[in-house]
Amino acid sequence: MKKIEHIGIAVKDISKSNELFAALFDDEPYKMEEVVSEGVMTSFFRVGESKIELLQATNENSPIAKFIEKKGEGIHHIAFGVDDIESEIKRLEAKGFTMIHKEAKKGADNMMIAFLHPKSTNGVLIELCQEIVAK
Ligand code: ZN
Repeated sequence: MKKIEHIGIAVKDISKSNELFAALFDDEPYKMEEVVSEGVMTSFFRVGESKIELLQATNENSPIAKFIEKKGEGIHHIAFGVDDIESEIKRLEAKGFTMIHKEAKKGADNMMIAFLHPKSTNGVLIELCQEIVAK
């Protein structure tokens, strides 16, 4: 794994949180993007080499809606950048980690992504991200 690609933060109201984080970073989000398959609206801020991803549920079945119901707003996941997500998934499964996604899927911000199950990672939800490079 190369670096912390981003940290995901679950929020109730992404427009209010965009204002809050824009004030915190003195910088606007560089994009907003809906991920329909995950039931989320996202926004992204650059912080040096890493990013902060805000996530708001777009429906009540969204994993973010369930997270906020149980735990409230706050840090939701940590994403690590990888060079070859398919081989990382195989490597981690071979070591006994439980993948939520056994195959990488398209996520926000031009990334192929896969989540590990937090029960196999000390309660931390971990996302793998590989940037999609246009060929
Ligand atoms: Zn993420």
